[in-house]
Amino acid sequence: MSLKIYQFPARDDNYGVLVHDPDSGLTASIDAPETAAVKAALAQNGWKLTHIFTTHHHQDHVEGNAALKSETGCRIIGPRGEAAKIPGLDDEVGEGDTFKFGNYEVEVLETPGHTLGHITYVIPQGKVAFVGDTMFAMGCGRVFEGTHEMMWNSLNKLRGLPAGTTIFAGHEYTLSNARFAVTIEPDNAALKERLAKVEALRAEGRPTLPTTIDKELATNSFLRACEPEVKAALGMQDAQDWQVFGEIRTRKDNA
Ligand code: ZN
Ligand code: FE
Repeated sequence: MSLKIYQFPARDDNYGVLVHDPDSGLTASIDAPETAAVKAALAQNGWKLTHIFTTHHHQDHVEGNAALKSETGCRIIGPRGEAAKIPGLDDEVGEGDTFKFGNYEVEVLETPGHTLGHITYVIPQGKVAFVGDTMFAMGCGRVFEGTHEMMWNSLNKLRGLPAGTTIFAGHEYTLSNARFAVTIEPDNAALKERLAKVEALRAEGRPTLPTTIDKELATNSFLRACEPEVKAALGMQDAQDWQVFGEIRTRKDNA
């Protein structure tokens, strides 16, 4: 049987995600934004927590680590680059590392910028990636600890995910991102169409995530900083990709 993935809202605008392998019975929580919300999601599905896959050290991603570990004995996997900041960490992982989750192989990508140690988990057999706060639907995380060049290199890594990859991210920021994106790319028809869909979904209180790499390559202006039409729209035809990314990120920070 294939992986079962359950996304649920947590805190104000976070998403929690449970990944369950029916064959092995293993269940991983992608980050642990809120103990009660993770426990409710587990109960609703009748799953027992065996792992937490931590993407980065921010409180809204590790808040539940200690309580969930003491209640379930789950194993916590997280970024080597910020291991000291991850409560309850058992296994440190970094770029190119792989580990088994049941019969599935999980691959680790280092995607620093939002934080210096931020990692992304990819399960190729499930055609799915968990990007934390590196990328959002039509957006990306704020560059708190790294540089614009570092964050662009991380997003550029995500550009290389296979077509059809489903992407789960840490927050529901899509409406704000979409409204901003049309100011960067007013002539992007796919973007305008997606903005309308996002407005309709949010008006009904429905999630806009998960997304796919294909949708993001077409409508995520941060991810599209290397595209000639984006550079032209900003009058930055001759700039480096990361500089164009930096201009877009700075505009969003100040929006
Ligand atoms: Zn964060
Ligand atoms: Fe976050």
